[in-house]
Amino acid sequence: MSDCIFCLIANGTIPVDVVWQDEHVVAFRDLHPQAPVHVLIIPRAHYSGMDDDVPAEVHAALCAAAPLVARATGVADSGYRLIVNTGPDAGQTVAHLHIHLLGGAVMSEGMVRLA
Ligand code: AMP
Ligand code: ZN
Repeated sequence: MSDCIFCLIANGTIPVDVVWQDEHVVAFRDLHPQAPVHVLIIPRAHYSGMDDDVPAEVHAALCAAAPLVARATGVADSGYRLIVNTGPDAGQTVAHLHIHLLGGAVMSEGMVRLA
């Protein structure tokens, strides 16, 4: 989608700090980090969110990427949290499916919800 910011990131039009990628997935640092390590893991293909008939292989690619992104950003051993905000009550602001990976500090309650 040409007007989707994460599609523009995935195709390289908008430059970001990419920490890991493969043919299906791009992982890059969040512009407004909520933890010392805060990375967004997105599919290259556009899905508006969890409720957009996402194929199982896309879910699989995103989940498989998470531990590799954690390893690449140095939080695999210390631990990390994965969050997928879905819809307005969860505070989803970008309508392109993404997983937040947060780590690098002991998580407080304040880090549970990202709005
Ligand atoms: P959500 O609120 O779950 O939809 O998360 C969207 C996230 O995208 C927020 O944490 C934003 O800080 C982040 N974000 C928005 N635009 C950019 C960008 N250009 N580069 C990196 N992160 C972004
Ligand atoms: Zn998109």
